[in-house]
Amino acid sequence: MKPGALLRLAIRLLTLPLYAAFGAWTLIRLPFVIAGRIKPFTVSLGESVRCESCHALNPIHGRWKCHCGATYHGTCLECELCHARASWISCRRCGVSVVLDRRLLP
Ligand SMILES: [Zn+2]
Ligand SMILES: [Zn+2]
Repeated sequence: MKPGALLRLAIRLLTLPLYAAFGAWTLIRLPFVIAGRIKPFTVSLGESVRCESCHALNPIHGRWKCHCGATYHGTCLECELCHARASWISCRRCGVSVVLDRRLLP
């Protein structure tokens, strides 16, 4: 066996644990990555959004007042009169603005 081939073999053997560690790390992270991707969709499909400040659940269905002057019952995501899309709502408990993820709006 040539010395160069022996060196390449040694390097490959030394890098195998690194590949194995990277694969294990990827497998460990995978559930958390998937959960992070799914969470916004569950928020959008759910009946409420959680306030990041006080952690209260705020229903997205109710009575809303739009900047166009309309007051309507329904989802806060879109005004039924002018079809403007809401980007945030006030938390009913603490008043902090709860941002609605615009990527999830219909
Ligand atoms: Zn709050
Ligand atoms: Zn409106």
